Amino acid sequence: VVRAAAPRFASPAEALHTVFGYSDFRGQQAEIIDQLVGGGDAVVLMPTGGGKSLCYQIPSLVREGTGVVVSPLIALMQDQVDALTAVGVRAAFLNSTQDSAERSRVERAYLEGELDILYVAPERLSSEATKRFLARGTIALFAIDEAHCVSQWGHDFRPDYLALSELADRWPDVPRIALTATATEATHREITTRLQLEGAAQFVADFDRPNIQYRIVPKSEVRKQLHDFISTEHPDDAGIVYGLSRNTVERTAEFLRARGLNALPYHAGLDAATRAATQSRFLREDGVIVVATIAFGMGIDKPDVRFVAHIDLPKSVEGYYQETGRAGRDGLPSTAWLAYGLNDVVQQRRMIDDSPGDLAHRRRMTQHLDAMLALCETVQCRRVNLLNYFGQRAEPCGNCDTCLSPPESWDGTVPAQKLLSTVVRLQRERNQRFGAGHLIDILRGKRTPRVEQYGHDALATWGIGADISESQWRGVVRQVIAQELLKPEGEYGVLAITPESAAVLAGERVVTLRREPERPERASRSSRS
Ligand code: ADP
Ligand code: ZN
Repeated sequence: VVRAAAPRFASPAEALHTVFGYSDFRGQQAEIIDQLVGGGDAVVLMPTGGGKSLCYQIPSLVREGTGVVVSPLIALMQDQVDALTAVGVRAAFLNSTQDSAERSRVERAYLEGELDILYVAPERLSSEATKRFLARGTIALFAIDEAHCVSQWGHDFRPDYLALSELADRWPDVPRIALTATATEATHREITTRLQLEGAAQFVADFDRPNIQYRIVPKSEVRKQLHDFISTEHPDDAGIVYGLSRNTVERTAEFLRARGLNALPYHAGLDAATRAATQSRFLREDGVIVVATIAFGMGIDKPDVRFVAHIDLPKSVEGYYQETGRAGRDGLPSTAWLAYGLNDVVQQRRMIDDSPGDLAHRRRMTQHLDAMLALCETVQCRRVNLLNYFGQRAEPCGNCDTCLSPPESWDGTVPAQKLLSTVVRLQRERNQRFGAGHLIDILRGKRTPRVEQYGHDALATWGIGADISESQWRGVVRQVIAQELLKPEGEYGVLAITPESAAVLAGERVVTLRREPERPERASRSSRS
């Protein structure tokens, strides 16, 4: 006999108090829940930590049948189910990590009306067999979590999500809710159209996280800068440090440990048991710092993360905002700290050039990177820049680095011309290309072995930039690259002129730069620059 899971609670408020132990709904939760309980559809854009889960968990408990939750976070399903089971919700999941006995047990429970909530991986739900199976039971609602994965223009596209549009045709009477923490207008539009949610109620939450202080600093000795930041501002606090590569993650964790901080590495190259142990120490112990690739953090709900640090430039503002949003879920003051430098820009432009995708894909990645660079180089309030990016108006916050010590902008046209003309001369007169480090040596008139070897002291631009320090030059080069007046190419990031550079050289375009604090330069530079 097939049965529908009976409603567990008469009202959302009762479920909120009894199951989750909270006294009030937050933000728009009550309206969203009412919309679903009443049988309507919803699109929910709410920042990380805003409380999206209750928006589908509670309606699943109030409506007859089982709430089917589509989530790409397979690794977290067990945790989510455990957490729900612990508070008396009958939950289970279906994904590729299960054996067939386990799967049959879950399927039987569903058909017998013994499940309030069933998590399903998107690739399962795109299979006809799974849909036929689900159709035999009673579905209270469909929740499509991380709904931005349906967007091909987004930062996290998953092809399996496209098939979710069929849910509307197959189950026209089952309410659907799509949720995401990505709030650009383009993503919002795509979620609505691709998932056939044009008729749904739209809930767009305030994306501001006023308790997070955003700071972006120029990178010099990044591990030392990071250690200074943590030890002076967050000595005993829990935090997450994001780096791009496994190697960076390992070395940074080691560096912090050697200086007495409780830091652990986390990346996909570590075995599952180690990763699980690290995650559980982060959740349960006080003051643990996890140094991680972006593999860490999705779905991890720790309220008192006091800082999120990025030691490499994130690939998109969406990703950055999601990662920094893991700080301060408890509403207490927290810091989002990012160090970014010349090599980040060079490396990421190169990664885009080398990426296997088609031209449209590379253009998309370039747009994401440009938005991220614009945030880094802005002389405006960081929060205003971030919120505008997500389509929200804001006033200067008074609490980010640019509000607290407004950077001057300065007319960098002349230095930019000196730099560009050095590149042009090398390229045109000698058919040579070099990276930033050597170009700066030429401009500053530094007699290095390489300068001697190539006779670059004979160039007309030799020594014409001696009035600007080496670290300031690095800032100039970085910003000139960010403005696409120079383009790094090839494995070593040698710099080439772009179509835009001509206007600067002709004196037709002003180059406005952000003045940076003077920093000690690294003792040795990598060969690449
Ligand atoms: P999101 O999925 O939007 O990132 P979560 O659903 O994980 O956010 O919720 C974030 C945190 O807020 C969780 O610890 C959750 O238990 C808590 N929370 C959600 N709603 C409420 C509420 N109404 N009252 C108190 N705490 C809440
Ligand atoms: Zn500000």
